[in-house]
Amino acid sequence: MTDLIDGKAFAEGLRSRVGELAAAFTAQTGRKAGLAVVLVGEDPASQVYVRNKGKQTVACGMASFEHKLPAETSEADLLAVVEALNADPLVDGILVQLPLPAHIDEQKVIATINPDKDVDGFHVVNAGRLAVGLPGFVPCTPLGCVMLLKDRLGSLSGLDAVVIGRSNIVGKPMAQLLIAESCTVTVAHSRTKNLAEVVRRADIVVAAVGRAEMVKGDWIKPGATVIDVGINRVPVPASAGSEGKTRLVGDVDFASCQGIAGAITPVPGGVGPMTIAVLLRNTLVAAHRNSGLALAP
Ligand code: NDP
Repeated sequence: MTDLIDGKAFAEGLRSRVGELAAAFTAQTGRKAGLAVVLVGEDPASQVYVRNKGKQTVACGMASFEHKLPAETSEADLLAVVEALNADPLVDGILVQLPLPAHIDEQKVIATINPDKDVDGFHVVNAGRLAVGLPGFVPCTPLGCVMLLKDRLGSLSGLDAVVIGRSNIVGKPMAQLLIAESCTVTVAHSRTKNLAEVVRRADIVVAAVGRAEMVKGDWIKPGATVIDVGINRVPVPASAGSEGKTRLVGDVDFASCQGIAGAITPVPGGVGPMTIAVLLRNTLVAAHRNSGLALAP
């Protein structure tokens, strides 16, 4: 029997707690915690994300500032927008939606964000803080994964964890967070030999690869907890009326894990909804820190 880890319900609970704390922040300071989101260009997926972030920010009782810039915006003009947000006392968190158009250096833009407003946790200062165990901002998706794992398993101490993927936004911070939880962590990637065997050792598997249904049920140790970060759009299997239709699947072959994994996140409805909820939580933390206030745990 494999349990479903309901990220959608967990994210709803987190947003509701953030909403209560945001109201208390406003009562204490006379202003709303504020999140600024900068979008350059018209990428349809990015537009959907930015719209959802704006809606959920407002629903939590925080202020949402959206800056939509044309695709041809110069790097200098984008950096000027980020600098203005750094200086704006009503803005606690700044998120620049990635990917940026090819003529703009993403690392330069991220490096320009004030690390204390970097609610995405992508600035090297925040990556460094995470690595050495100082308080900072942790990327939202891996932090959401750890929240789901601790909710399911309680203490993670001493568990064997395998993270598949070593990107700066998911794999690496995920590994750091699991080390901080006292797991024994293996990070796998495209050069890893005998990946199935490596994964079979794990009590916790986190798949952040970007390859549809790559991780199979017979790679999973019986009873292991499987966190599927992947979001892949694939064609619906051929049948009458299915032409051109697509559906979302994860990096894990969900069906073949049934009856083997102890618990698994579905796609959609697992890790996905956690990302924005954690972003709102990070913004609230930023607002408290920037105002010199303590935040109840
Ligand atoms: P990246 O493309 O940046 O990284 C993918 C990682 O997977 C790389 O480290 C790569 O290895 C590794 N990899 C690729 N192929 C294989 C393979 N055959 N075997 C083992 N490892 C492999 O992706 P991201 O980290 O940005 O995202 C990963 C997935 O998570 C994507 O599906 C993305 O859509 C999803 N995602 C979901 C989010 C959410 O909110 N739920 C947020 C962010 C991402 P190497 O380094 O050697 O190239």
